[in-house]
Amino acid sequence: MPTDPAPATTAHPGQRPGAGRFAPSPSGDLHLGNLRTALLAWLFARSTGREFLMRVEDLDRVKKGAAERQLEDLAAIGLGWDPPVVWQSQRLARYETAIARLTEADLTYECFCTRKEIQQAVTAPHGPMGAYPGTCRNLTESERQRWRDEGRSAALRLRADRTEFTVTDLLLGEYRGAVDDLVLRRGDGTPAYNLAVVVDDADQGIDQVVRGDDLLPSTPRQAYLATLLGLPVPAYAHVPLVLNTSGQRLAKRDGAVTLRDRTALGESPRHVLSALAASLGYDGATTSADVLERFRPENLPKEPWRLDPDGLLQPSWCP
Ligand code: GLU
Repeated sequence: MPTDPAPATTAHPGQRPGAGRFAPSPSGDLHLGNLRTALLAWLFARSTGREFLMRVEDLDRVKKGAAERQLEDLAAIGLGWDPPVVWQSQRLARYETAIARLTEADLTYECFCTRKEIQQAVTAPHGPMGAYPGTCRNLTESERQRWRDEGRSAALRLRADRTEFTVTDLLLGEYRGAVDDLVLRRGDGTPAYNLAVVVDDADQGIDQVVRGDDLLPSTPRQAYLATLLGLPVPAYAHVPLVLNTSGQRLAKRDGAVTLRDRTALGESPRHVLSALAASLGYDGATTSADVLERFRPENLPKEPWRLDPDGLLQPSWCP
C-alpha cells in the first residue's frame, strides 16, 4: 500500500513524533462520512508532523474482503499511512495481558447477566443513565458457580471506582461523561472494543485520536481505563458526523455514498476528495496535499455536513 511522501516533522531530532490513526471496522465499504473522518484524522496527524497509522478493528462485524477494500479506497483518495497495518485479530494475547493485569489488581469480576436482564434492571442508584446496574459485582463464589452450572457464560467487567471521568477534546473542550463497570471481555471470549482500543492506541504510540463524535460518550470510559492500566491518555478530537438529508447519520441506504458507488457514476477519486475537501471549507482542493497545505483545525465547520448524494458534486468542485 502506498505511503505518503516523508511528512515534514515538527518533532525535535531523536524525539518520536507521536502518531494519529484511523481505525475502521471492516463491516463493509467506507461511506463518505467515514472517508471524511479519515481525511480529518490524516490532516490532524500530518499537519502536526505525526505518523499516521492504520488499524483494522476486526474483532467482530467482519465482512470478508472489506478491510482490503477500505484500505484501497483510503489510498485512492490520497490518504497514505505509515506501515504496518495493525489487525486486532492478531493481538488477542495483548488484550489478555491487560485483562490479567486488571484482574491481579482486583479490578475485574465475572458477569452472568444477559442483555435482556441488564435492559430490564433499574440503573444503579446514583449511577449514570443506562449504566450497568452492578448486579454481579458482589456475587459470592457459590453464586457464580450456580450460574456456571446453569450453563451461563460469563463476561468480564471492570470494577470501576467512579461513575464519571473528564477528558479534554481539542475541538470540544472539557467533556465529563459516564464511566461504569464496562465489559472487558464478552461472554463469547472476544475482547471488548473499549479495552482493545485503549491497549492498541498505547502499543502503537498513538497520542492523537481523531474520530467521529458518535464515539465521544465512550471516551471517558476509555481514558479512565487507560489510567488504570498506567497508559498515557491520548489527545482527542471528535469531529462532526455526516448526516443525510433528513438529519440522520449517513448510511449505505442513503444512495451512492461509497467511493465505489461514486466511481460507478463516472466520478474519479479526485472528485470525491474534492467534495470532502469542500465540505470542510477547502473549495477547489483536488488532492489531499492541497487540503493539508490549507488545513487549520480552528476553522473546521462545527456543524455536521448534510449530504444529498444526488447533488454531491457541484461543477465548481470538479477538477
Ligand atoms: N472501529 C471504530 C469504528 O469504525 C472506530 C474506533 C475508534 O476510532 O476508536 O466505528
